[in-house]
Amino acid sequence: MTVKTVTVHVETRGNTDILDITNDVIEAVLQTGISNGIANVFSPSATSAITTIEYENGCLKDLKRLFDEIIDPTREYAHNARWGDGNGHSHVRAALLGPSFTVPVVDGRLTLGTWQQIIFVDFDIRPRRRKLIVQVIGD
Ligand code: ZN
Repeated sequence: MTVKTVTVHVETRGNTDILDITNDVIEAVLQTGISNGIANVFSPSATSAITTIEYENGCLKDLKRLFDEIIDPTREYAHNARWGDGNGHSHVRAALLGPSFTVPVVDGRLTLGTWQQIIFVDFDIRPRRRKLIVQVIGD
């Protein structure tokens, strides 16, 4: 069994910007040469998250609306009162969605469903350059 780690960089616009990172993960897995195992993609950031969804405009709008409804950015946040950086809602959204996603790799391919893309969501309130870690464990 081998463990290999690849770093991927993405540029985001912030404010719940949703990027399809499926091809980045596929390329990272190919780079490792591991053909059977699991791939984990992780965001080392407190205001972003990774999950999966069908990457089409309807789903993306619905997901953004859900976050506006359940974690309203216009509310008061203790984090903002303490730090004054205005991204209290970004931290809470990131905590709810989670920073990583794992997918089985079989015969060199991610076992994603046809309409299942891996997305990186940047909840911060400004454009960011983000580093993602793809770690693959297997043979
Ligand atoms: Zn903050």
